[in-house]
Amino acid sequence: MIQLEHDRGLFADCPWCRRQPVRYHDGDNLQLRAALKPEWRSPNGFYASYHFGSCEFCGGQFFGCTLNMIAGSIEEDQQTGGFWNYLWMNEDTEILGSHEAVLDAMRWPVTLHAIPKGTMFQHDFGPYAMRDEAWEFMQQIIIGIWPALRALAELSNGGIP
Ligand SMILES: [Zn+2]
Repeated sequence: MIQLEHDRGLFADCPWCRRQPVRYHDGDNLQLRAALKPEWRSPNGFYASYHFGSCEFCGGQFFGCTLNMIAGSIEEDQQTGGFWNYLWMNEDTEILGSHEAVLDAMRWPVTLHAIPKGTMFQHDFGPYAMRDEAWEFMQQIIIGIWPALRALAELSNGGIP
C-alpha cells in the first residue's frame, strides 16, 4: 500500500550530476493504456505522459513520466476533451497538497489537485538517467505498481486529503 509522507522536495535533480533545475524539453503520450492488461484499463480516468530532456549543466540525458489519475471514469472520449483536459493539465486546478509517495523501495512526489470529479493524483516519476528502451522501462515501472496506484486513487473517495 502506498503511504503519503511529508514532501521534502528531494526529487528534481539531474540523475547524472545531481544539480537543479531539471527541465524537460519535450514529451508525448506514454501509451500506458495500451500497455496495461485489458482488465486494468478501466476505469479510464488516467493519463500518463513521457518526458525527456538534457541537463543544462552536464548535458546528461534523462526521462520521466507524469501520471495523472482519478478514482473513476471519464465519459468523454479523448478527442472530445472535456474532463480529459484536467488529466492533460490543460485546466487550472486547486492544489490540495504535495506529498512523497512511498511503496517498498520506491519514493516519488505526488501532488493532489481538486477537480470537479474529486481528487486528481499527479504522480511524477523520474528523472531517470537515459537508457535503452526508456519508454518501455517507464511503462513497466508504472505497471509494476498499478494496483497500488489504483488503490490510492480509490482512497480519495474516502477522504484524502
Ligand atoms: Zn546534470
